[in-house]
Amino acid sequence: MPEGHTIHRAARDHAEMMSGQVISAISPQGRFADGAAIIDAATCKSTSALGKHLLYHFSNQQTLHIHLGLGGYFVCQTQPADPPRDVTRLRLESATHAIDIIGPNTCELIPSEALEAFRRRYGPDLLADNPEPERAIAAIRKSRAPIARLLMDQKVISGIGNIYRAEILWLRKLNPMTRGVDMSDEDLQALWDDMRALLQIGVETNSIITNGLLPKKGEVITERTNIFGREICPRCNNAIEKSKLSGRTLYHCPECQS
Ligand SMILES: [Zn+2]
Repeated sequence: MPEGHTIHRAARDHAEMMSGQVISAISPQGRFADGAAIIDAATCKSTSALGKHLLYHFSNQQTLHIHLGLGGYFVCQTQPADPPRDVTRLRLESATHAIDIIGPNTCELIPSEALEAFRRRYGPDLLADNPEPERAIAAIRKSRAPIARLLMDQKVISGIGNIYRAEILWLRKLNPMTRGVDMSDEDLQALWDDMRALLQIGVETNSIITNGLLPKKGEVITERTNIFGREICPRCNNAIEKSKLSGRTLYHCPECQS
């Protein structure tokens, strides 16, 4: 499952391939033939991301909504592109590029008048141009659920996956089981600011880096973490504890995050 920064990065990359261009759209698999016909020959105005949702905004008041889910993926090519595979749900082509969307969880059109209602179904996006931390903070402070669960609830806040969750709580020395109602506005604002900064690094480098060691120019890395997937806490040298929360593995240091 991609974390929020990967979809923001895709939105940025796909904008370079599609924005301002007339798009041809087909559904080689056939399952999105009607939708493809509606956006075919429209201009892609821009793209945006909301957490793990990627949105392409078209000139004919339609927005294409893609959620990859666990098994979906994009294949991007420069023109002239190879023919699409039969399993391709949707191919978008501009004069310069082709993007194939394969196996997505969601592939649908949202008319512009329904877009705001769609956005309000989810918590505010950490990387939004106009961030709304107050909306997330209010939702967290109303809840008796543990902060570790709330951070991954996309209805509370959009963009945090399992790796960022573990890392951010460790960085701020927060006990993952702290209830939302027991946190202060100041703590939550600081948490928001840190999460936003980490995700911005994720978009810039296309990798999850939470330990401050940025890659050198040309160096390709996927992640650099403090405690996620690790055995020993780099701060206190005690063992990292692994537990299950909502079916996902939660890493934390019982010593630093007590
Ligand atoms: Zn520790």
